[in-house]
Amino acid sequence: MIVFEFKAKGKTTQYAAIDEAIKTAQFVRNKCIRFWMDNPGVGQKDLYRYNTALRAEYSFVKDLNSHATQVGVERAYSSIARFYNNCKKGIPGKKGYPKFQKNNRSVEYKTSGWKLSQTRKQITFTDKKGIGNLKLKGTWDLNFYQLEQIKRVRLVRRADGYYVQFLVSVDNKVEIPPTGKTIGLDVGLKEFYTDSNGNSEPNQRFYRTGEKRLKFKQRLVQRKKKGSINRNKAIHKLGRVHLKISRQRQEHAKRIARCVIQSHDLVAYEDLRIKNLVKNHCLAKSINDAGWYQFRKWLEYFGVKFGRITVAVNPAYTSQQCSNCGAIVKKSLSTRTHVCECGFVLDRDWNAAINILKLALSTVGHTGTWVIDPNASGDSTSTHAGEVLYEQAGSMIEESSPL
Ligand SMILES: [Zn+2]
Repeated sequence: MIVFEFKAKGKTTQYAAIDEAIKTAQFVRNKCIRFWMDNPGVGQKDLYRYNTALRAEYSFVKDLNSHATQVGVERAYSSIARFYNNCKKGIPGKKGYPKFQKNNRSVEYKTSGWKLSQTRKQITFTDKKGIGNLKLKGTWDLNFYQLEQIKRVRLVRRADGYYVQFLVSVDNKVEIPPTGKTIGLDVGLKEFYTDSNGNSEPNQRFYRTGEKRLKFKQRLVQRKKKGSINRNKAIHKLGRVHLKISRQRQEHAKRIARCVIQSHDLVAYEDLRIKNLVKNHCLAKSINDAGWYQFRKWLEYFGVKFGRITVAVNPAYTSQQCSNCGAIVKKSLSTRTHVCECGFVLDRDWNAAINILKLALSTVGHTGTWVIDPNASGDSTSTHAGEVLYEQAGSMIEESSPL
């Protein structure tokens, strides 16, 4: 699936109609969750039936295209299924019991309820929500694709306006010649990463530099009276700063990931459980800073796209073990150099990166057989449904799994 994103241009009343449609999608989703809570054991089919009942009961639900309300059901069911899955897998701690959604930002149509103009520079929503005709601002040309290839159309609200996304099904694998090179990456707090050749990619601290601006805007919000127009304006501005920083981070992660993948046949990195790490507040910011999570997603995305192998290895001992003799050399986080009894001395992160590469190579076996071990890369290889990796407005977004 490729996602093409355009900025939507319309009248204020149309934007209000989009908000209304987004709210309805959330209503259906939450109603389904409630229905499931009250009737334990109901399946997806029951929820579809319940959706039909909702459409009969509430006219504002009926006004939304029927497939779009079905997506609301699907969203509810995927959170229910995730919860069941977590219970089955026996994951310790919270199982992610489905929650009611409060700030849904999108509504998704399938293949009905919308129509593209002849030039494909405009879209008209044909259900009764009254969204009507929106102009599509962006450089992408939808004429390149068959209408049948457009599987979904999403309306998304962001701090700086409304966007239309087209999910197009295409086989977008690209063949590039092998390089004969393999690489291990050790993600760090000091450097974005250090590789097994001893090179490092500096950290772009977008978040830190943006932080001052964020704090300033946050203070502006706090100073304004609750419920006032000025407060809403300040909140809006704060949202835009957030959005800008997250886009910068996303761009940076993507650019580096593409470059690393294109110049290596195999890329190894640690299977860091981001979730667990983020619980540690002092690490959290730096990890968010580095955009490591997005970076990993993009590595996996480009890995599939360019037919390269990406391997996530167990990070245990990668920084402690000597990459020369295999001995364990205990060191704290502040010890920056690896010094082993065997006489091997190396930068701590460099040593770790070599270990990561070695581990990966032992996982995939001989480096001539290009087989990816699906178990090696943990459970976060693919993008979760509904999650979007995005670029700047009006550019192409790509997702690694169909929705
Ligand atoms: Zn050693």
